[in-house]
Amino acid sequence: MSENKDPHVAESGLESVKFVYDFTEGNKDLKDLLGGKGANLAEMTNLGLPVPPGFTISTEACKTYLDSGDEPAALRDEVSAHLDALEERMGKKLGQADNPLLVSVRSGAKFSMPGMMDTVLNIGLSDKSVKGLAEQAGDERFAWDSYRRLIQMFGKTVLAVDGDLFEDALEAAKTAKKVTVDTDLEAADLKKLVTKFKKIVKTECGRDFPQDPREQMDLAIHAVFDSWNTDRAKLYRRQERIPHDLGTAVNICSMVFGNLGPDSGTGVAFTRDPASGHQGVYGDYLQNAQGEDVVAGIRNTVPLAELELIDKKSYDQLMQIMETLENHYKDLCDIEFTIERGQLWMLQTRVGKRTAGAAFRIATQLVDQGLIDEAEALQRVTGAQLAQLMFPRFDEDAKVEQIGRGIAASPGAAVGKAVFDSYTAIKWSRSGEKVILIRRETNPDDLDGMIAAEGILTSRGGKTSHAAVVARGMGKTCVCGAEDLEVDTKRRRLTVNGTIVEEGDVVSIDGSTGKVYLGEVPVVPSPVVEYFEGRMHAGADDADELVAAVHRIMAYADRVRRLRVRANADNAEDALRARRFGAQGIGLCRTEHMFLGDRREQVERLILADTDAEREESLKELLPRQKQDFIELFEAMDGLPVTVRLLDPPLHEFLPDITELSVRVALAESRKDSNENDLRLLQAVHRLHEQNPMLGLRGVRLGLVIPGLFTMQVRAIAEAAAERKNAKGDPRAEIMIPLVGTVQELEIVRDEAEQVIAEVQQQTGVDLKLSLGTMIELPRAALTAGQIAEAAEFFSFGTNDLTQTVWGFSRDDVEASFFTAYLEKGIFGVSPFETIDKDGVGKLVRDAVKAGRATRPDLKLGVCGEHGGDPESVHFFHEVGLDYVSCSPFRIPVARLEAGRAASTSKGSDHR
Ligand code: PEP
Ligand code: MG
Repeated sequence: MSENKDPHVAESGLESVKFVYDFTEGNKDLKDLLGGKGANLAEMTNLGLPVPPGFTISTEACKTYLDSGDEPAALRDEVSAHLDALEERMGKKLGQADNPLLVSVRSGAKFSMPGMMDTVLNIGLSDKSVKGLAEQAGDERFAWDSYRRLIQMFGKTVLAVDGDLFEDALEAAKTAKKVTVDTDLEAADLKKLVTKFKKIVKTECGRDFPQDPREQMDLAIHAVFDSWNTDRAKLYRRQERIPHDLGTAVNICSMVFGNLGPDSGTGVAFTRDPASGHQGVYGDYLQNAQGEDVVAGIRNTVPLAELELIDKKSYDQLMQIMETLENHYKDLCDIEFTIERGQLWMLQTRVGKRTAGAAFRIATQLVDQGLIDEAEALQRVTGAQLAQLMFPRFDEDAKVEQIGRGIAASPGAAVGKAVFDSYTAIKWSRSGEKVILIRRETNPDDLDGMIAAEGILTSRGGKTSHAAVVARGMGKTCVCGAEDLEVDTKRRRLTVNGTIVEEGDVVSIDGSTGKVYLGEVPVVPSPVVEYFEGRMHAGADDADELVAAVHRIMAYADRVRRLRVRANADNAEDALRARRFGAQGIGLCRTEHMFLGDRREQVERLILADTDAEREESLKELLPRQKQDFIELFEAMDGLPVTVRLLDPPLHEFLPDITELSVRVALAESRKDSNENDLRLLQAVHRLHEQNPMLGLRGVRLGLVIPGLFTMQVRAIAEAAAERKNAKGDPRAEIMIPLVGTVQELEIVRDEAEQVIAEVQQQTGVDLKLSLGTMIELPRAALTAGQIAEAAEFFSFGTNDLTQTVWGFSRDDVEASFFTAYLEKGIFGVSPFETIDKDGVGKLVRDAVKAGRATRPDLKLGVCGEHGGDPESVHFFHEVGLDYVSCSPFRIPVARLEAGRAASTSKGSDHR
């Protein structure tokens, strides 16, 4: 994930020795160098907006500091030069006794990391300059309050003094004066508090609070640099997948004060509603306060609209600035501002975060306003957001009793009875109950319980905890780290703020918001799924605004995408749904799914067959049923390709469980009542037992050692296709051989298949154009793709098995047992089973594409592993030049959208 490009050269063309940039020098595209805050302050400055003057120390300086333990040699002089210029401009000097310039020192990384890193305000105040500030502001109380804030913040963040010591002293001062809010402390009280705070610093650090303003500034800069590597910042980056080597910029900004009286204040605003996307006046304002007061929630804010009554001039100016910013950034912006004695100042802006629904709405609204074009609209939304909109959700109108909130770890809305251990989860779910598994945290032993549960709720752990990772992998709703919940697994109950939830009580959890409710909250299907299902029409008068927005963006994605999107489906019902969702064929029909249920016995007979005659008999029985399956599938996908994969899994998967069967046989024997069939079955189970079934007798190997198996399947496909043709259908079957490692395997199976197809053509008189291809899911197949392409008309990359075999990971075992540890240690940011490992597995895919096409230029190339529906992986498959991705029906819209996004960002397909 690291970005190696030199930001100086790549982005700015500015000379690479420079570490400090005045706000007038940067712009919004320099986030790598100046951090998000610095880049946007510069942009606003250049737009002529009222930004307090200042400068930014680059992330490069931070990186040098963190790498070498010392700031770059040139930094001090550069800061001095910029400080001189700032002082000249402001007509006052940092910490000057009679008329001090004060500055804030704020962190600002490329990606926003809210509350993770440090900020120090009021730098420049000292025993001397506090008096100057009092005079300058004509307000003694304000000056001493600012000074105590500086010592408190500086003490805590720069000198690492326990913040509670200051808080306790502040509380004591309020108690002594019998007041409850800070603002009731007067200048004299605050003066005493400053003395007390300075004493705390001296006792705790063995040094005086620095009186030299430049020393304050330099120490604050270092503290901001250091705050990049605090444990909480590192954890946040791991969870948000932000690279660790970016470093933070530091913004030095002349102070403006929102706490100079009732004509001052501070606030936050959004240019439109981040929840719905609608335009309007959204935000909060706090009179006579500094930014930190808003965050701390000390006093109640008022809605931004009320600012119009408090200070109309500033309000009007703010509205105008918000419009300027929206038109300039062409997106929703969020803003922090301060009003100092009736003068409005902009302290920050950035493109604001929004909900998934708002992202789609805003993108289309901006197109309608003529601010962006459709290509840009496509970049403003993501497949992950679309996926979120497709989960069923709780009815917004329902009455709810929220009892807690945790981390939204895996989306969805789940309702069920509370259970506190896996055993009960399994037992109850077997008897038809829906359950929510509640644990303090989960571990691999809970896996079966997690599978049985509707959703998982834990009181500990973050987005990479075991519960979160496994739940996401299973597509199961999960809320984790709901710390208010006291989970008592022994007494089978949880307690939260006096409410007790006993085993069996119904709870509802929302994996998209992290909210936990007592009782059953009704679930409604997502309108977006209703739309994809064709049950809601985007053009209808009463169509949901969101649905209309999704429809427009999907239409655009479909117009521009190069990748086709197919479905992994093996029955007509799934195929039809996939088609409604926009599938352009089936990329993987797993025929083993057709061998389950009541056909298992027939498969058992095939496996147990001792003689050729017995085996042929059982295959003959299976043939018509297989054929019927294919007829239905080809009909559902009429006119579109259907890739049918011949049998893949090891045969013991079709036989009873070894332990269950052994017990049954032993019991029967003890009753002298042995069943001949069970005995034969048990023998077969033992014979077919494998130490590592993933690497045993499966895939093409089955076809080669069990005579007649693959040919039966090929015959079923060919006869079904002939029948569909006779019925005036348009079947487009493709026969796919799994787990091929060498071209010789493929050649043998291929010859047999061609013979069968020729026979069926002759028997039916129908001209069948069936293509034959293979999966590429073993490293050897990828490495010899050039040879394999001699015998294959298409490749479908089976990236599930390819990931298993390239990494040597058995998926079923590793995900639950040690992936959490790997994610926490940052070995990978995301499971390679979720997002394709570009450097390893991806390299094999890339090389195999090249080699395959070199042999056979018209080789058709697709992917049918889980990665086919993963947004980031779809971009990779576009880039390496595949023809299609195939994924489960529910992920098709996401794949369509991401294929469109990939095509409209790519600079052409020169990879082909
Ligand atoms: C694969 O290996 O990627 C694949 C699609 O096959 P399966 O998941 O059925 O093994
Ligand atoms: Mg496979």
